[in-house]
Amino acid sequence: MAKGSDGTSESDWFHKHEKEMLERAAEERERRIQQALAKQKHEELDKLRAAHWLKCPNCGHHMEVVSMECIRLDTCKFCADIYFDRGELESLLLRKIPQRFKFYRRLFGLD
Ligand SMILES: [Zn+2]
Repeated sequence: MAKGSDGTSESDWFHKHEKEMLERAAEERERRIQQALAKQKHEELDKLRAAHWLKCPNCGHHMEVVSMECIRLDTCKFCADIYFDRGELESLLLRKIPQRFKFYRRLFGLD
């Protein structure tokens, strides 16, 4: 078999480059699969978010966002459940007692 100027045979050269091409093709295929999975996951999360956005966890009806004493509440007009967003309950609990009572009185329709 003919040897090139670098001492390798033609079949060695093809074997080496064919292996590199196959490895690159496998890497590219894996990259495309991962991209497709990431896109699919993102789309599934969007669908889940859209299906459950502002839906009452108790009864499934649509909830309304109400601002009361600067606290954002998600309220269900069907079953009357009330939900606090992350951080809102802590914000309320850190208020002084008269401010908290004012919030509770408004919440229960006493004021
Ligand atoms: Zn409800």
